[in-house]
Amino acid sequence: MTDPAEDGKQDMKQASKEAKESENVAEKYSAMTVSKISEMNMGELSSAFSAVPTHKPVKKQIQFVEDKQEFSRFPTKAGRRSLSRSISQSSTDSCSSAASCTDSSDDETSPRDKTPVNSKGSSDFCVKSIKQAEFGRREIEIAEQDMSALISLRKRAQSEKPLAGANIVGCTHITAQTAVLIETLVALGAQCRWTACNIYSTQNAVAAALSETGVAVFAWKGESEDDFWWCINRCVNTEGWQPNMILDDGGDLTHWMYKKYPNVFKKIRGIVEESVTGVHRLYQLSKAGKLCVPAMNVNDSVTKQKFDNLYCCRESILDGLKRTTDVMFGGKQVVVCGYGEVGKGCCAALKALGSVVSITEIDPICALQACMDGFRVVKLNEVIRQVDVIVTCTGNKNVVTRDQLDRMKNGAIVCNMGHSNTEIDVASLRTPELTWERVRSQVDHVIWPDGKRVILLAEGRLLNLSCSTVPTFVLSITATTQALALIELYNAPEGRYKQDVYLLPKKMDEYVASLHLTTFDAHLTELSDEQAKYLGLNKNGPFKPNYYRY
Ligand code: NAD
Repeated sequence: MTDPAEDGKQDMKQASKEAKESENVAEKYSAMTVSKISEMNMGELSSAFSAVPTHKPVKKQIQFVEDKQEFSRFPTKAGRRSLSRSISQSSTDSCSSAASCTDSSDDETSPRDKTPVNSKGSSDFCVKSIKQAEFGRREIEIAEQDMSALISLRKRAQSEKPLAGANIVGCTHITAQTAVLIETLVALGAQCRWTACNIYSTQNAVAAALSETGVAVFAWKGESEDDFWWCINRCVNTEGWQPNMILDDGGDLTHWMYKKYPNVFKKIRGIVEESVTGVHRLYQLSKAGKLCVPAMNVNDSVTKQKFDNLYCCRESILDGLKRTTDVMFGGKQVVVCGYGEVGKGCCAALKALGSVVSITEIDPICALQACMDGFRVVKLNEVIRQVDVIVTCTGNKNVVTRDQLDRMKNGAIVCNMGHSNTEIDVASLRTPELTWERVRSQVDHVIWPDGKRVILLAEGRLLNLSCSTVPTFVLSITATTQALALIELYNAPEGRYKQDVYLLPKKMDEYVASLHLTTFDAHLTELSDEQAKYLGLNKNGPFKPNYYRY
């Protein structure tokens, strides 16, 4: 019999060894102090453009017909957010960015039927119109202004080329911010081929600008489902080029490769996945023993979850509400359903505007947090008749039911900030006795027989991603995390990562945060030797254990 205590010690030794090894990349790049980063990037990026945030677009998750069952029957991811929708239920939208909204190309010919060449003579791309490249370049330059941390990583590491030899195939939203990430990967030595994870979110001009510089992009706004898979296929299946890294958002690319080109995985060093859905799919593959390469779960990095979910929503909820309704929110009775990261952000913004905010929760811890933050915790049923605005942020389904919608007062506004369009039971409103009146883009008046109107925003899809923009700075944090995850997986010595799903080492989360501190001219306090010893910490971090919740 082995001694469990001894086993435990061995496990801890092994764990600490693995943790040390995995800190290498972060250590290497974080050798640059915050002040050095500051010297390097500030001022260099100033140009005639002012920062105009473009927003992270909404995902239209395409469904593998043969896999729908497999992926929709699984339970929730790590018990945090409910993956309550089937893959085909996610929200879609038409207007995902400044660039794509103004994209007025009248050419109805499918990009698949054209063979344009870029100025270098290459035709290894398929975009709406290569002629839009110049405009797309301006969009990318504007995004760069608010992504200085990613640019500083680019500048710092480009002489070392940590991604030399990396053939990255990517499937993400193709926006100006993603372009800054792709061009960073290229500057660090990678060759990239890219496709869109959403049929509506591509900024055509940005796709053109990338194609003009030699990145093989296969994507345009308004693809059909068939186009979507065709683009993925063109990205992966090309003469004389084999991917060895995957950057995915939603898992469609990874899954396509598993189905169609399983042999390619012999060369793949790792997968980096951003989304809840994609991460969920990876964990299922891992559980089934089918994951044959290491994968990084970027979705659950502190720098993604605590910033994208909380601060992004705090910034964008009002934008979405204001653009769609012109309503004054001061003094309005607002109920926010769910006091997780997104709910906290929404409540903070609405409270600051003078709304009288109440929340609903199922979890006593989050409910207590809401109480301590000064919000009333209520049951929706009990307040429904007085409510002016309902915002759902639970990741759950049927949080607002038809019965509750029936009891709402005239002129009440209903919207959703959660991932899926199932939080509000919109389907139950599509009955003959109710009239739908589209009053402006993304705004419907649902009219009851007695004349009562409820204002439904974005048909119950994500409000901020459907109707407003999200701040580029937040996307910089996520993009920097993705870039580091790719560098780490690509350079990790054999054996450091097994065929499993990993969270980014804490040190890298800290490094991503430190890169972004310079924007605010923030100065960290350094631990003295005595203090470091007292706390049992390395002076250079990591500063918190993995279980710390922030
Ligand atoms: P979270 O798990 O931190 O918070 C969700 C909260 O809802 C939890 O506290 C949970 O207890 C509560 N909840 C669940 N069912 C409920 C119910 N029936 N009534 C009341 N409360 C309920 O998750 P999060 O990070 O806040 O994300 C919430 C949703 O927003 C997810 O779907 C996520 O994918 C999405 N999201 C949106 C954006 C955006 O830009 N709009 C950004 C990030 C995440």
